[in-house]
Amino acid sequence: MKEPIIGIDLGTTNSCAAVVEGDGDVKLIPYKGGEYTIPSIFAIDDKGNELIGYEAKRQWQLNPRNTIYGAKRLVGRPFQSDVVQQMRKVAAYSIRPGARNDVVVDAGKREFTLQEFSAKVLGKVRDVASAHLKQPIRRAVVTVPAYFNDRQRQVVKEAGSLIDLEVVRIINEPTAASLAYGVGKGMNKTVVIYDLGGGTFDVSIIEIRDRVFEVKATGGDIFLGGIDFDDVLIHHVLKDFAGKTGIDLAADPVAMQRIKDLAERTKIDLSSREEVAFNIPFITMTAQGQPLNIEMKFTRKLLEQLTSQLVDRSLQIVARVLVDSGLSTKDIDEVLLVGGQTRMPVVQDRLTRFFGKPPSKGVHPDEAVAVGAALYAHSLEDDTNLRVQLLDVIPMAIGLEKAGGAFHSVFSRNAAIPNAKQLLATTSFDHQTELAMRIFQGDHELVANNDMLGEFTFSGIRADRAGAVQVEITFDVNIEGILTMRARDPATGREMTTTVRVTSQN
Ligand code: AMP
Repeated sequence: MKEPIIGIDLGTTNSCAAVVEGDGDVKLIPYKGGEYTIPSIFAIDDKGNELIGYEAKRQWQLNPRNTIYGAKRLVGRPFQSDVVQQMRKVAAYSIRPGARNDVVVDAGKREFTLQEFSAKVLGKVRDVASAHLKQPIRRAVVTVPAYFNDRQRQVVKEAGSLIDLEVVRIINEPTAASLAYGVGKGMNKTVVIYDLGGGTFDVSIIEIRDRVFEVKATGGDIFLGGIDFDDVLIHHVLKDFAGKTGIDLAADPVAMQRIKDLAERTKIDLSSREEVAFNIPFITMTAQGQPLNIEMKFTRKLLEQLTSQLVDRSLQIVARVLVDSGLSTKDIDEVLLVGGQTRMPVVQDRLTRFFGKPPSKGVHPDEAVAVGAALYAHSLEDDTNLRVQLLDVIPMAIGLEKAGGAFHSVFSRNAAIPNAKQLLATTSFDHQTELAMRIFQGDHELVANNDMLGEFTFSGIRADRAGAVQVEITFDVNIEGILTMRARDPATGREMTTTVRVTSQN
């Protein structure tokens, strides 16, 4: 049988793969025991064995320092960024500065880059798929949050190459979900994909015209997801316990792990129940050696109150994306829910109020992204009878640093991709043979508040007087949202050499 390209949803908490089979049916790839998702967790046990997925999750409570979870949030982030600093406070594993102004994580006294961590999870998903399909899998379409910048997308490509998995295309998670909803149905609809997963929030407005899927606008927050709902609950438990006993459990990783586990379960239970007990026996001991328990109760109301700001934040982003798309709520035919956290009833209620109609149950919240990735993978095959056209956008402006740290945008937020733009620069001193440019992505007018994508140096410029030589710089953003740059001398037509360096920001 021909070797298929699989679709992989590389999630913050769980990953999932799907494939289109010969007759055109999409199948999720099952893992042992019939589960379709694999926890995106990597650990090293005390014997030095590497554990990935359920094996890693199972021993998480006992080995929190060597268990890497939620690390997708760290992908492509500088060590000094708020996201990383906040993660360092809550993660039991150590997060340290890496060599490329990124971070590395530790497990079992070994250091892993985020490329390596992602490669471990992708490798596991690939192996499960190969075993299930009984043939080697070497190519995949992998999804990323729409709100991932260029650097974060590059990490996923690099992760694939570490394990000989060709990431043939990176597509955005909400775009993939829209494919799961609309492919092959001859539809003409404008849909909102509200994707609140374990670690990230994305929202895209997508116009579906039969086989053409055109993203009108996208937005998101890569620091808003189910984990933050859990954290609010955990914080409440810690405060309550400290109030009753004067003991701060935050410094005890094993206690924290038990609280985290129960917090997530309680949150999930409160989606179907009004009240849930929160009891953990023997969480710690008093100075006199007496065991102490956590004995609390959570109601759905309390959870809603504690997390209302998180839901508000997501709706503010929805409102902005709607404005960016030039549409109003009455232009929206369906609101589709993706990501496990959208099962929380208040999320659905708030969306119903916002759009004036209840969200549709048109896609499976946990499976749609992998299914869409598989459909897209299949549409790239030579012999496919399923052709789809994706017209996507970049989530944040891309541009360069001007004198004084100002940001000059070359592509605006929501610019359609693929896209190319040219810019003419002139030499500013005599015999200048090199031109360096710092490129950023973000929506702020100062580069310091945006993410640096790299420093591009163009060399081999003709030596001449200042201002006498022009350099034509082409910015190319491909369909995956990845930037490449090149430069040529318009007078001679000669291409210059381009090197990219990711340096520390500012
Ligand atoms: P995903 O990344 O889509 O797998 O989303 C996982 C997130 O959804 C985790 O934070 C889960 O705790 C959360 N989740 C799963 N099921 C529910 C539920 N029934 N109610 C609330 N949150 C849920």
